[in-house]
Amino acid sequence: MIPIEQILYTQEPLTWEFEAQVVRKTAAPDGRSAVILDRTYFYPTGGGQEHDTGRLGEARVVDVYKDEEQQVIVHVLDRDLPLGPVSGRIDGERRLRHMQHHTAQHLLTQCFVHLFNYPTVSANINGYTPSTLDLTVEQVTRAQWEQAETLANEIIYQNRPVKSYFVSAEEIERVPLRRPPPKVERIRVVEIDAYDYSACSGSHCPSTGMIGVVKILKVERQNDKMRVYFVAGKQAWEHYQALFETVNSLAAQLNTNPQDITQSVLRQGELLKAAQREALTLRTGMIAWEAQQLAQKSEILGERRLVLAPFEGRPAAEVRLLADELKSVPGTLALLATYDGQKVSLVAVCGPGCGLSAQELLRSQLARIGGRGGGDATIAQGGGSADPAQFQAFWAEAQASLRQLLVT
Ligand SMILES: [Zn+2]
Repeated sequence: MIPIEQILYTQEPLTWEFEAQVVRKTAAPDGRSAVILDRTYFYPTGGGQEHDTGRLGEARVVDVYKDEEQQVIVHVLDRDLPLGPVSGRIDGERRLRHMQHHTAQHLLTQCFVHLFNYPTVSANINGYTPSTLDLTVEQVTRAQWEQAETLANEIIYQNRPVKSYFVSAEEIERVPLRRPPPKVERIRVVEIDAYDYSACSGSHCPSTGMIGVVKILKVERQNDKMRVYFVAGKQAWEHYQALFETVNSLAAQLNTNPQDITQSVLRQGELLKAAQREALTLRTGMIAWEAQQLAQKSEILGERRLVLAPFEGRPAAEVRLLADELKSVPGTLALLATYDGQKVSLVAVCGPGCGLSAQELLRSQLARIGGRGGGDATIAQGGGSADPAQFQAFWAEAQASLRQLLVT
């Protein structure tokens, strides 16, 4: 059984500065310097909660763990320390966050049991990222977790004392524990006054008020369990600050109040849809007009008209829309190209009475630059690669070959 002098945090969770003696120098399994003190308030990793950090004299305490074999607490340091007196200082910020989250975990766990009889099977306590607890149930509805969260916060505001005491294996029968205790001679009970009794060796707040607030962020399935993510105390406050910043900057951008953001975003969505519809109508009209212009300016060769239109960097989809307009103009043979400096996109069109195949035309043109494409007799689309000089030669050749085709 570990002596009480080695786990003084269990007696005085708020003592973060203390005097002690380095009674033994040792090494962690990875070779780092470590010491054992005659008495310590440092919390060792265990029970889902990480160890404390802090200082022992000039040395930084980077890890703290329990040596089960020797029943002592090992303080891993960033440098050597001599034997003798030393001042200890625990990193209070980190300890407070762990205490708040650990106490919040006990409380939330009991709220889920109390309200729905959902037991917690495991928990992970973090001070800087959301902590979690796992419930062995099929489903937790939003209404349920909100109810548990509300109850937990009510108990926080009641500022109930959180007591911890050691009980012998015989006496433990009388304590209404949530889960069966470990089989040891001395069991530490952490009690949220008359509400929750838990066998736990972690560090906790001395009263529920110190948790500040607990907020569940989400509940999601994790294998056969439901994992509850929550923040408490300082972390919850920081979470609120971050959201506050985001919400206020959004409200400023939308020129509205934070509480009206949802309505404002919905309204903006409607406006955007209307603008997109209008833009589409305008673009369709513009393309139709442009197609008409191209048809009017086309070369008339016998019964047919030849449209040749190269564009620079125009989206291929837009060129395709233009081609779609031209395919209904009688006697039209059109070749439309767009070139972005590297890629050539090509659309071939054979309108009614043209008597040629757009697909064949496209293939024969693209073959010259090793391009690919497909379509039907009326309209075909494809592309290939070419440098600017190659494209110029390609386009000159395309024009000449199409004129030749229509003359013969
Ligand atoms: Zn605990």
